[in-house]
Amino acid sequence: MEVVNYCPYCSSNIYETIETQKFEDVYLNIIDPTLNTYIREFRKCTECDLIYRNYSLSKSELNLLYKGAYRDDEFRSENGYEYFHRIDSIDNEESENYNKAIFLLSNINCVVKTILDVGCGAGLLIKKIKDERKGIKVYGVEPDLKYSEIARELSNADQIVTGFLKPNLFQEKFDAITCCDVFEHIEDPINFLNIIKDYLKVGGYLYVEIPSVNNFGKLRKDDEIFTYQHTYFYSNKFLYGLFEKCGFKVVLCEEIKYTRPTIKTRFIVKH
Ligand SMILES: [Zn+2]
Repeated sequence: MEVVNYCPYCSSNIYETIETQKFEDVYLNIIDPTLNTYIREFRKCTECDLIYRNYSLSKSELNLLYKGAYRDDEFRSENGYEYFHRIDSIDNEESENYNKAIFLLSNINCVVKTILDVGCGAGLLIKKIKDERKGIKVYGVEPDLKYSEIARELSNADQIVTGFLKPNLFQEKFDAITCCDVFEHIEDPINFLNIIKDYLKVGGYLYVEIPSVNNFGKLRKDDEIFTYQHTYFYSNKFLYGLFEKCGFKVVLCEEIKYTRPTIKTRFIVKH
C-alpha cells in the first residue's frame, strides 16, 4: 500500500474525508489479507472533485489483483460461462445489457458501422449489439484471459484482443467506443482518454457508464462498489472537465437506474 499525499489528478493537498473504510475488503484479501489492517480513507479533492483513496495500491499489488484474481471463479459464485448464459438469457424487457445496447444504438447520432467495447468482459454487450444490428462490426478488448476467451467463443465479435487498451492494438479507427464499468478501474484517466481518442474517428462517439457518486450515501458501507477493485470515483463536474480537457464534447449526461441497487451515470461524448 502506498501513502497518498496529493490528489493524483490535480496534485492539490486539500480534501474532504468522505468515509473511513473498516470493512473486510475481499479484493485486498486476494492480494494480501494483512492489507485489511490499514485504515483506508476516501477523500474528495476540493480543487477538482476527484474521489480517491489513501492508501492506494502499488503497481505490483494491482498486478496481483488483475492477474486472474479479479474475475476468479472461486471468488464469484459462478464461472464465466455460467455468468454469460445467465445474463444473456434474461428477457429483453428486464435485461440491463439489452437496454444498454438499444440505448446506445439509438442515441449515437451517426451511422455506426464499427464499435470497440473496452473492458468487454465475456462479451455480453457485444453479443447484444450484434444481435440487434446486423452487419455492424464489433471489436473488444479485455484484460482477463478467461473472460476474453469466452468473448471470443460466444459473442460473435469480429475480433477480441486480450490485454489492456494501448496504442496499436487495432489497425482501424472506430465510429463508436463503449466503456462500461471501466473508468473507475483506470489509474490515469487522461492517458486512457487520449488512447481512446486515437482509436475514435473524428465525429465518432464515446459511451461511458460509471457508478453514480450521487447515491453512495444510500448504499451499504461494505457495498462491492467501495472495494479496492475501483481506483477512483468521479462526479459529473469532474468528468465534464476531464472530457473537455481531452477534447471531447459532452452530448448527453444522465443518471440511470437499472435493476441493481447501484445507480449509474452515463455519458455520450463526441470526438
Ligand atoms: Zn484534485
